[in-house]
Amino acid sequence: MERRSEPQRTQGLHLVRAEPTGTPGEHPPCERCTSKCCRYIAIEVDRPSTSRDFDQIRWYLLHDGVVVWVQDGAWHVEFRTPCSALQSDGRCGIYDSRPQLCRDYGYGDTSPCDYWAKPSDFDLMFENAPSFEAWVESERARKARRREAARRRRAAGERA
Ligand code: SF4
Ligand code: SF4
Repeated sequence: MERRSEPQRTQGLHLVRAEPTGTPGEHPPCERCTSKCCRYIAIEVDRPSTSRDFDQIRWYLLHDGVVVWVQDGAWHVEFRTPCSALQSDGRCGIYDSRPQLCRDYGYGDTSPCDYWAKPSDFDLMFENAPSFEAWVESERARKARRREAARRRRAAGERA
């Protein structure tokens, strides 16, 4: 799943479905979708490596409607806010002049669109600051254990 289009959106209403139906094909199934790709924007950010970086991610997550996810090792900040051109019936209100990004999404070389997204597509998903803080703590503990195990292996090697 890669995030962001808008193909035959002029056909019918978008039905609410809990689970996707069918299989990914040449065209995204917009007629069966709830306009998932029109309800957020996501920006790739640098992978956090310093305390300051981690604190910045935490700051993003302290805001309502902001989530952070990692896919194929790339970190993204997602702002869950609908496009102002999205109509209440799920159709694009500026279909003929919609941005190229919307026209391209879900076609060609891009991977299947958001309609097919599932939790396992993500390496990590943080919906709020506490979940991120807990993950940071668990990572710190895991790295501390690895360092301690390495130290013990070195000490055992020196004694041998
Ligand atoms: S998520 Fe896919 S199926 Fe849904 S509106 Fe966007 S491109 Fe169409
Ligand atoms: S311009 Fe139209 S297709 Fe593009 S995000 Fe907005 S509502 Fe969706």
